[in-house]
Amino acid sequence: MLDADFFRRWMTATAASVDREAERLTALDSPIGDADHGSNLQRGFTAVTAVLQKENPDTPGAVLVLAGRQLISTVGGASGPLYGTLLRRTGKALGDDAEVGEEQLAEALRAGVDAVMALGGAAPGDKTMIDALVPAVEALGDSFTAARTAAEQGALATTPMQARKGRASYLGERSIGHQDPGATSAALLVAGLAEAAGE
Ligand code: ADP
Ligand code: MG
Ligand code: MG
Repeated sequence: MLDADFFRRWMTATAASVDREAERLTALDSPIGDADHGSNLQRGFTAVTAVLQKENPDTPGAVLVLAGRQLISTVGGASGPLYGTLLRRTGKALGDDAEVGEEQLAEALRAGVDAVMALGGAAPGDKTMIDALVPAVEALGDSFTAARTAAEQGALATTPMQARKGRASYLGERSIGHQDPGATSAALLVAGLAEAAGE
């Protein structure tokens, strides 16, 4: 079973990898965006780590709802409300159970990803974070490691796609040939899950 501490570890592992990869995320956002994705998420996840330490929520759902709310209020770009919605909706789906099962988490994350698609209007193939999140949620039934691999492959698969949502879509065909920054950070988020599980 997964307790609040597991979810805190997920958020701190993600914050650490976002720190490590911030320059790369911003570099990916340079040719097809406005070169701020790394700094956006770095600011957001630094604030998430701080607020979790301060408020110390004691259920999995409360950890994710608080983290999501913090991302929405600290990240200015498109990714803030989208990741914020992902975590908040996932947290709400977990309710106030003190411990949740892996199956329950997979189901809650599916609801979270659905909420991101409803908010942003993106579908798989539109060259967004959805292209990493959807395969990850599908693989989560197998293991956290399988989900991480699926998210990484999903991020790589955005390179030949033409963007149909977000800033990159303004470039039309010129968005082809670049890996999507949001799909890349989504793979870091999923990798954080595997890290929290010790995989
Ligand atoms: P901004 O584009 O406002 O500067 P960021 O650079 O932080 O925001 O995030 C850009 C990423 O957000 C993109 O690479 C893409 O993955 C994701 N994104 C943008 N718009 C959408 C959308 N409508 N649905 C899903 N993801 C989106
Ligand atoms: Mg940007
Ligand atoms: Mg921006």
